[in-house]
Amino acid sequence: MFKALVVDKSEEGVVRSEVKELENNSLPVDGNVTVAVEYSTVNYKDGLCITGNGGLVRNYPHVPGIDFAGTVEESDDDRYKVGDKVVLTGWRVGEAWWGGYAQKARVKADWLVPLPDGLSTKQAMAVGTAGFTAMLAVMALEDHGLKPDQGDVLVTGAAGGVGSIATSILASLGYSVAGVTGRPDTADYLKELGASRIVARDELNEVVKRPLESETWAGCVDAVGGAMLARVLGQMKYGASVSAVGLAGGAALPATVIPFLLRGVNLLGIDSVMQPFVNRQRAWQRVVSDLPLGKLEKMVQHATLNDLPDLGAAILKGAVQGRVVVDVN
Ligand code: NDP
Repeated sequence: MFKALVVDKSEEGVVRSEVKELENNSLPVDGNVTVAVEYSTVNYKDGLCITGNGGLVRNYPHVPGIDFAGTVEESDDDRYKVGDKVVLTGWRVGEAWWGGYAQKARVKADWLVPLPDGLSTKQAMAVGTAGFTAMLAVMALEDHGLKPDQGDVLVTGAAGGVGSIATSILASLGYSVAGVTGRPDTADYLKELGASRIVARDELNEVVKRPLESETWAGCVDAVGGAMLARVLGQMKYGASVSAVGLAGGAALPATVIPFLLRGVNLLGIDSVMQPFVNRQRAWQRVVSDLPLGKLEKMVQHATLNDLPDLGAAILKGAVQGRVVVDVN
């Protein structure tokens, strides 16, 4: 038997989640590696899966948790043996497949990444999908020519999971970071992570009035999307890039193409779910080298499986600061 957070939907369509004891034989049969999960976390998508929003979960009962880290307990695949430490993000685990909010998970070996040296399973989940994606976003900006001497880099949704880690990584790489937040009380926290400037959300949340404004940002990691992304595009410096990561502020993009045509601005799509293995390894290695673990500590709050229903609702309201580490045991 093992414990898991199980989400179920009643005939009336009401979605509820509670911690239950499950039989080992209830795990997905077509996985080939069983992992004793140690830690999981709470990402925006987890909020959708826990509360039954967004249409991500099609089959109930369901165990959410889009990422986890733990130790291999059983393996039918040559790449992993009993005792190996592993981390998993993406591949629709926790959405279409049972996920990490459980003491055990059975998954496909193709989806796992060996835990990089220098990171514990707990630290890997303090990073989680949000941090892994923040790293991919920074790597994409670098691949498109961003250098620290080019000016301020904007991070939107800065006090959230993606934003906190993007801020820390960029600052530790020597960039001057401007963090956009709708929570003025997080200013000290963001400065501790390395932001040198705080931008109030209201300054950027208005729909585009002029397609081009002053050239202000050398790069941007955007976790918000919507009207804010549209506005930011018109404020990018000539030839600069925006990594589009999230939609916490909306999926619509009420923008014009003028910043692309007149300033050569690049909008870079960042997907963490289907990243090939080699790129996953590269991103995890960069997390180890570029994210100061002291800063990671500052952004973490701790939780158990029982806390997840409340945390799932809170993250959808933008009310979670930084990262949550869930000890599933
Ligand atoms: P969080 O909730 O932790 O962070 C989102 C932040 O966005 C909030 O903390 C808040 O920051 C800001 N925000 C929330 N609502 C609004 C709003 N209406 N207008 C403007 N800003 C808002 O979520 P995560 O960091 O886990 O995820 C952020 C986004 O990235 C999500 O949309 C998520 O789905 C996406 N994502 C995408 C991935 C990919 O593969 N592309 C992978 C991981 C996440 P503040 O309080 O500072 O204003």
